[in-house]
Amino acid sequence: MSKIHELGYLAEKVEELKNTGVYRKLPILESPCDAEIILNGKKVINLSSNNYLGFANHPRIKEVAKQAIDTYGVGSGAVRTIVGNTALHEELDRTIATFKREDAAIAFQSGFNCNAGAIQAITEKGDLIISDSLNHASIIDGCRLSRADKTVFQHSDMEDLERVLKERRENYRNVLIITDGVFSMDGDIAKLPEIVALAEKYECMTYVDDAHGSGVLGESGRGTVDHFGLHGRVDFSMGTLSKAIGSIGGYVACNKTAYEWLNHRGRPILFSTSIPPASVAAAIEAIKMLMESTEYTDRLWNNARYFKEKLTALGFDTGNSETPITPVMVGDEAKTMAFSRKLLENGVYVSGIVFPTVPRGAGRLRCMVTAGHTKEQLDQAITIFENTAQEIGIL
Ligand SMILES: *Cc1c(COP(=O)(O)O)cnc(C)c1O
Repeated sequence: MSKIHELGYLAEKVEELKNTGVYRKLPILESPCDAEIILNGKKVINLSSNNYLGFANHPRIKEVAKQAIDTYGVGSGAVRTIVGNTALHEELDRTIATFKREDAAIAFQSGFNCNAGAIQAITEKGDLIISDSLNHASIIDGCRLSRADKTVFQHSDMEDLERVLKERRENYRNVLIITDGVFSMDGDIAKLPEIVALAEKYECMTYVDDAHGSGVLGESGRGTVDHFGLHGRVDFSMGTLSKAIGSIGGYVACNKTAYEWLNHRGRPILFSTSIPPASVAAAIEAIKMLMESTEYTDRLWNNARYFKEKLTALGFDTGNSETPITPVMVGDEAKTMAFSRKLLENGVYVSGIVFPTVPRGAGRLRCMVTAGHTKEQLDQAITIFENTAQEIGIL
């Protein structure tokens, strides 16, 4: 075997990860993703999931998923354009469109590959994509796959966005402005009314990634567009079925023309096997539950407000969050990771977020409260937060 096949160049990079203290092992979950979990063999309170509504392990949703396995089997067997488009997949598209109050919707296998497939399909050479500086990695990758020119505006800075539009709009055919609806590391909400107004003034299209807005904001979790009453004014309303909806998949809700085009040119629709039937059935049921009742989103917001108020009263800084994503700002990277490790020892799992996911010196613990947490669990977590912070000299 020649030297190259030992992959020494990768071994060196892994060594570098170890030397800079960012090498890690994946935590191992041995229970459903609930408010309490068994992680690395230990029972802890879970403040790290995106399972906002507790749907990932909901009895009613599990039941329909099991039925779908009995009816359709465990795999769809092909991409949607061949025989992988079951009646359930069609129902999912229609259900999403109804929920999101759009004309149509098309479901991909994940939020990530939805962004990777949709952005390149709707833009081309001669177009410009303008993206918020804090947009999600899947948007960045989606933009990279497009042949359009790309540029970034400073996070939620409308003056900077207008500067870009003034300087560059006229040089392009179509311009697409892309933003997260809710920013995943800070929990702040995009200034969507202003973005839409600028898009209309400069004749641009808009694309909102609502991975953290759907199931959370708007009427019964209809998302950021619904929250601001902007139906009909955002061209592409993207979301995920993997977070609040508790299953797996991603989608674009849009008008019929956009649907037709993505159906023909969304590459993951054509070249990657469709979502398994059980996961499709689970997503449909979850969305139906949201359309039937606001009890899940109400409980989520009550829990999130309760937890945030208690943390703030103790003197923790929860940053700019306007949603259930609750960062606890620490600053120093090493301190952030030490805090997270100690919390786990003391019975709470909350992931530390440091550079490069957030800027240097902006280390934080990202707490995710869900509808599934009881008041007792939240109180217990808050006590552990307080004691642990004192133990390591943060409070
Ligand atoms: C999680 C996330 C995605 C990816 O969604 P998956 O369904 O998990 O692939 C896309 N965009 C944003 C903003 C996200 O937070």
